[in-house]
Amino acid sequence: MAMTATAPTSVRAFGPGIALSCRECGERYDLAPRFACEFCFGPLEVAYDFGTVTRADIESGPNNIWRYRHLLPVPANVAELPNMNPGLTPLVKADRLAAELGLDSLYVKDDSGNPTHSFKDRVVAIAVEAARTFGFTTLSCSSTGNLAGAVGAAAARAGFESCVFIPAGLEDAKVVMAAVYGGKVVAIDGNYDDVNRFCSELIGDEAGEGWGFVNVNLRPYYGEGSKTLAYEIAEQLGWRLPEQIVVPIASGSQLTKIDKGFQELIKLGLVEDRPYRIFGAQATGCSPVARAWEKGLDVIQPVKPDTIAKSLAIGNPADGPYVLDIAHRTGGSVEHVDDVEIVEAIALLARTEGIFAETAGGVTTGVLRKLVREGRLDPKAETVVLNTGDGLKTLNAVDAGVTATIAPSLKAFTEAGLA
Ligand SMILES: *Cc1c(COP(=O)(O)O)cnc(C)c1O
Ligand SMILES: [Zn+2]
Repeated sequence: MAMTATAPTSVRAFGPGIALSCRECGERYDLAPRFACEFCFGPLEVAYDFGTVTRADIESGPNNIWRYRHLLPVPANVAELPNMNPGLTPLVKADRLAAELGLDSLYVKDDSGNPTHSFKDRVVAIAVEAARTFGFTTLSCSSTGNLAGAVGAAAARAGFESCVFIPAGLEDAKVVMAAVYGGKVVAIDGNYDDVNRFCSELIGDEAGEGWGFVNVNLRPYYGEGSKTLAYEIAEQLGWRLPEQIVVPIASGSQLTKIDKGFQELIKLGLVEDRPYRIFGAQATGCSPVARAWEKGLDVIQPVKPDTIAKSLAIGNPADGPYVLDIAHRTGGSVEHVDDVEIVEAIALLARTEGIFAETAGGVTTGVLRKLVREGRLDPKAETVVLNTGDGLKTLNAVDAGVTATIAPSLKAFTEAGLA
């Protein structure tokens, strides 16, 4: 009887990821916890050698983002490692909202159902795998709210310490979500951009040794998680790209990676190469990218945020210039809506589709409505709007409550005019 000699399978820690490459000058680096080019300070991103990837490879995978592991910088056995396993959230055919807005075909990609109720679980899941490989012991981040919760939960699940940094004055639900998993939550007296600057200092200091900041020194890995939104939308449409998509902008990372994801699917022959238009959405109270777009500038002038859409309140968005490029290249645009329109749009989405969005979803839905009204979006084209967070986290933004309070009697019910 022959013994089966099993060759030790060397698991490549980054799967198809082969290097980091500078987005500006193309300089290549080893896969390491670094985020800026030594020559031009441009942002680094993961470069791949995919080989062949088929629809069947993906379709036979688990019902979460790891079905796309062939396209992500993660090991082949990633689905067996302790991770929050986010993704494969519903793509809701939004016929009632479409009818109200005057669109032929509309979908809401509803990412509120991720493990910590925002899209941030996607990006953190990839950063966790990188942190494990690099031997970090503490997970950290600078957060506008949702990221802090996603990092806290993922650290607990995967066995890291955590210490996250948020601007003071965030919504209660976001603070509680960040703290409940047992890590440290530090509020910084200042806005997100102050928090981010502080974290950059901490990374250079002894105090931050052994720390993986998911959106700073692990940013190239983190960013790749957003590509899974693009993959899911295409797969859920039956392996087809949408013709138009409305995406929220905080740092701009998600929008640029959705474009990267669509491009990869085209290059791999997984979808037909057809044009798509990407529209960026910001809140008027923090709209540096939309303002640059309006003025036809290719640089971003930082602003001081003042909006109820706190999850998108980044006054100096790192990926802003790339967002402008993508909006230009695809024939989209970057728009903003004010806080009143955000609240109206949250109510509109809830009333028509039964989806309770956080303020970021109000921003995208509001921008969608504005684009249709102003005739700048094709009402005949297949359109996707993103809802990236759960309305339960921003309860104070909405004005909704009981219709009436009555005594427990039929008489009271009738008298209150409710029958
Ligand atoms: C972080 C976040 C985004 C997008 O952030 P980017 O920095 O642009 O990638 C969108 N929606 C919500 C709810 C978020 O928390
Ligand atoms: Zn460079």
